[in-house]
Amino acid sequence: MPFGRRITREKKTITAMMAIYCRDHHHTGHKRLCAECVSLLDYAHRRLDTCPFQEEKPACNLCEVHCYSAIMRERVRDVMRYAGPRMLWPHPILSLGHILDKLRPAPKLKARAQSDKKRR
Ligand code: SF4
Ligand SMILES: [Zn+2]
Repeated sequence: MPFGRRITREKKTITAMMAIYCRDHHHTGHKRLCAECVSLLDYAHRRLDTCPFQEEKPACNLCEVHCYSAIMRERVRDVMRYAGPRMLWPHPILSLGHILDKLRPAPKLKARAQSDKKRR
């Protein structure tokens, strides 16, 4: 299934953040991630693939569903806490998008299901 712009951008953002985090914490080069970070990134991408909000996806920290396991959530939080402020210079557009996402109110899952029904 092809993913929309929102999910595609989110995947690019988390990939860029993981690259910054891994480079500085695990001393890998710019072009590759260590095995641990590959598995975290893979997990995050799979969450995005199955995110029930898709194009209306809120910032994960505002989400009512919280589809991450507690451990993975904490790990991704660490990555975002570190890499978020370091994204502005190398990735200004992704960084701005991420900041705006955090300012937007999160949709309710029920409200979204109803608006999907109306659109059909
Ligand atoms: S935490 Fe919420 S917004 Fe983030 S991927 Fe999971 S369901 Fe979607
Ligand atoms: Zn790493």
